[in-house]
Amino acid sequence: MYVADIGVKCPTCGVKFNSKQLPAVLDIGYRNSELRQHFKGVIPQYEEYFVVTCPSCGRADWSTSFEVIEEPAYLQSPSTTAHLQFRQAAMVAEKEGRSFYNIAYLYLYAAWCADDRNALVQASEYRRLAVDAFSKSMVDGSCPADKRAETEYLVAEILRRAGEFAASREYFSKIVGRLPGPFAIMARKLMRLTEVSDSQAIDFVAEVSA
Ligand SMILES: [Zn+2]
Repeated sequence: MYVADIGVKCPTCGVKFNSKQLPAVLDIGYRNSELRQHFKGVIPQYEEYFVVTCPSCGRADWSTSFEVIEEPAYLQSPSTTAHLQFRQAAMVAEKEGRSFYNIAYLYLYAAWCADDRNALVQASEYRRLAVDAFSKSMVDGSCPADKRAETEYLVAEILRRAGEFAASREYFSKIVGRLPGPFAIMARKLMRLTEVSDSQAIDFVAEVSA
């Protein structure tokens, strides 16, 4: 995986600095049950390079929200643990009243990065916050209409991954009848896992066997 120093400008304070980003992101099309692209350790996970923090004012956000600059920068973005940067970004986004759909993904990425660091307590906490934000995104309309089924599926699955088995099962049973094919097949598999209190992610394989 090629990580580059990319010069960016902070949209909040205007300071220019270098950030570690991936010039190219590989998509192998493979997802786990929580819809995370997962490389199974063959190559490192890339989500930690999707968040950037300004070394001057501390603004944290998706790397894409920082304008790329051509001239060399001398400051460097702080190498704070990625899940803490995502949490900070989510908290700022909430304070600024940005869309809950966006906030939910910041918390979900925080959870994934916490998983990578074995920060289990934080991972559960971020998942609960992601569930809350995804749920609000379906009320405030920030969840796109064509993502609604996927988001409902995701809420139930994130609950299971956070160890909230009863709540997950209840949510899955409420939505399973209206989920499109692959999500419905996965939902039935995951409901069985909630019955044995299994919170591990499994492959997203929409086949009726297994
Ligand atoms: Zn700044």
